[in-house]
Amino acid sequence: MSELQISSLTIASSQTTLVRDVTFQISPSSSHGLIGESGSGKSITARAILGLLPPSLNATGSITLNGLELLGSSESERVQRQGLSIAYIPQDPLASLDPTMRIGRHFHTRRNDQSQRAVRELLDAVELSDHESILRSYPHQLSGGQRQRILIALALTRSPELIIADEPTSALDAGLQGPIMRLITSLARQRGSSLLLISHDIALVAAFTSELSIVYRGSLCETGATVDLLQHQYHPYSADLIGRARSFYQPSALSPSPRTVIEADEAEPYSSSHERSEAVLLRHGCPYSRVCRSSDSQCESVLPPLTARGPSSFRCFHPSSSIESKETRDERR
Ligand code: SF4
Repeated sequence: MSELQISSLTIASSQTTLVRDVTFQISPSSSHGLIGESGSGKSITARAILGLLPPSLNATGSITLNGLELLGSSESERVQRQGLSIAYIPQDPLASLDPTMRIGRHFHTRRNDQSQRAVRELLDAVELSDHESILRSYPHQLSGGQRQRILIALALTRSPELIIADEPTSALDAGLQGPIMRLITSLARQRGSSLLLISHDIALVAAFTSELSIVYRGSLCETGATVDLLQHQYHPYSADLIGRARSFYQPSALSPSPRTVIEADEAEPYSSSHERSEAVLLRHGCPYSRVCRSSDSQCESVLPPLTARGPSSFRCFHPSSSIESKETRDERR
């Protein structure tokens, strides 16, 4: 039962702030979706959790797993001193496996019976049945779905406290996205691992997570329980994102019920483009102020504080319950 807490995380280079004052938490054994478009800081946040930020970037704030500070410690330090294990499932299975090595060698196991049995149990867990053929194959000889299942199996080898899956289905056909998402979330649940699911596709992720955080240009817009956030959004970007997704899905596809999982499996993501760049230049005010119809001079100059309301938290000076257009506010003044 692991809890991840990210508090006031800011990541910057000497010239640019990539992530600004991001706070959210993953409750023990929960699945948490981190949603945002390209360049919103999702993957760089994941790298900070993993301790894999490049030396040119400086991170401040706090990232704790079960109360132990992760920021500033390397992966080997975490394992040796703290016994913590965080697994990572990348978005491109073909690029993430060594093309010169057979699948069996990726598991780095000893040749004794116990180790070999453990690998076969992992293959069973990810629903790959032809063990001998799979283990003898090179990555290019497997299908995209089989390669992604191998990456999931590799992520589970150390019984991780936390699994981070970064766009795990973006390289797969639409028909495979739902089954792979279901496999990741059910394996995490079975093993008591917390799960951070990073994606730009809110409809797909909402069907498989109990918590959501929505980010825009390196800043947190809103975080809370999935069921609450889908019903009511305080931040205009959250409302826009969910509204756009609804228009591409069946009306009930964004409601987190067991039936929804099936419907979401069959749906197309609202956006198939996924740029890799995480480089964004944040200004002082609300990052959404350039496009927000409710923006005013305060929004343009000050980052809104994180405000808790019921089970959700958001950063907005004019949350949706009180949103009125700039023109209306000007008229009222
Ligand atoms: S109302 Fe202001 S603070 Fe809220 S999202 Fe719009 S620009 Fe940002």
